[in-house]
Amino acid sequence: MSNAKPWIANYPPETAPSLEYPRVPLTHFLEQSAAEFPDRPALYFMGRRITYRELLAMSYQFANALIKRGVKKGDRVAVMLPNTPQAVICYYGTLMAGGTVVMTNPLYTERELIHQLNDSGAETIITLDLLYSRVAAVKASTPLKRLIVTSVGDFLPFFKKILYPLVQKKQGDHPQITYGGDVEPFLSVLKESATNPVRPEVDPEKDIALLQYTGGTTGLAKGVMLTHRNLVANTLQCQAVMYKFVRGRERILAALPLFHVYGMTTVMNKGISIAAEIILVPKFNAKQILKLIDKTKPTLFPGAPTMYIGLINHPDLPKYDLSSITACVSGSAPLPVEVQRRFEELTGGRLVEGYGLTEASPVTHSNPIWGKRVNGSIGLPWPDTDCRIVDPATGEELPQGEIGELAVKGPQVMLGYWNRPEDTAAVLRDGWLLTGDMGYMDAAGYFYIVDRKKDMIIAGGYNIYPREVEEVLFEHPAVQEAAVIGVPDPYRGETVKAFIVLKEGAQVSEEELENHCRKRLAAYKIPRLYEFRKELPKTMVGKVLRRQLQEEEKKRSADQ
Ligand code: AMP
Repeated sequence: MSNAKPWIANYPPETAPSLEYPRVPLTHFLEQSAAEFPDRPALYFMGRRITYRELLAMSYQFANALIKRGVKKGDRVAVMLPNTPQAVICYYGTLMAGGTVVMTNPLYTERELIHQLNDSGAETIITLDLLYSRVAAVKASTPLKRLIVTSVGDFLPFFKKILYPLVQKKQGDHPQITYGGDVEPFLSVLKESATNPVRPEVDPEKDIALLQYTGGTTGLAKGVMLTHRNLVANTLQCQAVMYKFVRGRERILAALPLFHVYGMTTVMNKGISIAAEIILVPKFNAKQILKLIDKTKPTLFPGAPTMYIGLINHPDLPKYDLSSITACVSGSAPLPVEVQRRFEELTGGRLVEGYGLTEASPVTHSNPIWGKRVNGSIGLPWPDTDCRIVDPATGEELPQGEIGELAVKGPQVMLGYWNRPEDTAAVLRDGWLLTGDMGYMDAAGYFYIVDRKKDMIIAGGYNIYPREVEEVLFEHPAVQEAAVIGVPDPYRGETVKAFIVLKEGAQVSEEELENHCRKRLAAYKIPRLYEFRKELPKTMVGKVLRRQLQEEEKKRSADQ
């Protein structure tokens, strides 16, 4: 199967199955776009626009500032910021200084921060004043030497003077930051530094651009080493798949967090590479996003299913015009078909499902945006991405159509996990990355994810994939969201439990949901237990945290 590559036959003629990858650092794209479109806005943030010329100059300034402060090639620099211009400047500035970016989730607790900073060895962090107290509290337990602190209002004078004090007051515990020594304000760091170009000697294949932490919900997060080449490749693969987009003309909505590799690649790296205007959204809020789309007219909106669900179910939806959107790729979790249909109807654009994981920079598959797509499928492998379905127990390749673990190989696949050779060896074999996701390929080369290997429920000896049950629940008109997990059962080993969020004003009984499932699923797959909730726990990219639900269940049964 791996040699046959049946998927290539379904590539639209405009998408080459194999691409050229220049040996350049990732920062090349910013320099190229700034040279070609210096006066075009690169970033839009709460009404303020920053041009490509300005973004490049500030990135050089930040790189010079880091070098002056002793940051050397390969040093890890933590960036703990929401979607703001500062996040983009610090990302490119660090890369230009030859450093490795460690994206840090602003929601991390002190414990998670301590782990990440110690594991990565980052001595420098850039963070927000609103997050300062958390960072300051962990400093002594980590290698941190230097804190650079910025404010949401640093590029917004009106906001800073009038509104920001109110936000700070609301935030409550906002401490007075005493600047000096190793705690410096971002704007002065920037202003005091030269704007001369900084071009590090980078070996794109070996040098790590990004140490991206993943897997923290099960145990301690691991750092995924992504090289410049990995990220350049995924950016160019993305360009090849979205061939209709025109350099210097697009606007891309950054609703996905840039500190997650999905937003980083499909919004920031890809957006900068085509000289798009990136519309920064600091925090996902359905109403604000509807307003922002209406006002700023983005053409591209990569997102996660829960984002699209939030928008199409918002009561104010009819007030806003979403027709500027021409293409969206939904990733990180399965996209319900009904959501796809409704969103396309509203925007007149295309919404297709894709797939990826941090270890692959992240994207490996998507449905062709303007070609033949298959609902319920993650689509075709991206250019130069080989795929196999293997038996998870033996590693043997399985025949087409059978369910097994998806393995991928391509230029976007990580170097390995930082300082964890054993973990690396467990998932990376001869360049093949074992994804931990169970799926299959159809005869036309389209791939399907049935579920995560770890999330599979085994009830009475039967394998149940929660996703299949969730899709059925989702088809019920009262259901807005559904998550299914296995809970311990004395007779069946495990049994199926469904967590349901109802649409506003909707009502439904457990019996009705059970009847609905009975008509559509084999008896052993039908949930035996239901719990109605106002919302489900989610990651920052909007993926439902099934593992958190499992932990809550475990705790509940231990308490009983
Ligand atoms: P992360 O490394 O945080 O990006 O998470 C990657 C995981 O998200 C994958 O291994 C899949 O389990 C899941 N995932 C991503 N895209 C999809 C999709 N379209 N359908 C189902 N699961 C997905």
